[in-house]
Amino acid sequence: NNITIAIDGYSSTGKSTISKQLAKALGYIYVDTGAMYRAVTLFAMQNDVLADTQNLIGLLPEIELKFVYNDDLGYAEMYLNGKNVEKEIRSLEVSRQVSKVAAIKAVRKKLVDLQQAMGKEKGIVMDGRDIGTVVFPDAELKIFMTASPETRAARRYKELLDKGEKVLYADVLKNVQERDYIDSHREVSPLRKAKDAIEFDNSDMGLKEQLERIHNYALR
Ligand code: C5P
Repeated sequence: NNITIAIDGYSSTGKSTISKQLAKALGYIYVDTGAMYRAVTLFAMQNDVLADTQNLIGLLPEIELKFVYNDDLGYAEMYLNGKNVEKEIRSLEVSRQVSKVAAIKAVRKKLVDLQQAMGKEKGIVMDGRDIGTVVFPDAELKIFMTASPETRAARRYKELLDKGEKVLYADVLKNVQERDYIDSHREVSPLRKAKDAIEFDNSDMGLKEQLERIHNYALR
């Protein structure tokens, strides 16, 4: 009996790590919607239309996004117009711009349509900001993840260092806080906990415990 699982929450709450492992444990598809907003942002940077919303909207039909499953990694990687952009989309530079791009109505429309099409198949774990509220309001299980900004920034900081990016903790913390602010104050689909979502604060919880708990919800 496959279900749809929506995992929303603030930046760097570990949504994607948990979602990936949960999907694996259940034999479900995992979709990282943040990667899609990040890829559109990278496209806007490459085409010099970040500050030019009208032109970016005009170019949206030229953006082809695809998830390609990587057997070695055990998850799907993001391809933008045929090119693997996993590394570029995770940079602090893209993180700095993505929330502005994600506030554009036409961008959200294009991506939500794609996400809903992917969700036609049951047995899916999708993570993002508006999955339980907008993309799949009827999802059987909704989780809303939170953690203190400092915990989240420390996680993201470590991730970026591990990838060899030279960043300052203070800049990462600032970015996390700025994105949360923009994401929860934008006009279109602001970041909100869906009424029927389970709130999950993982500031003081290890990965194993989180996975166990959420896995149990999924089996109920
Ligand atoms: O999940 P991640 O941190 O990679 O998402 C990057 C950004 O994309 C978020 O800060 C938010 O601005 C945007 N986003 C969104 N809606 C989603 C997923 C991501 O607005 N469903």
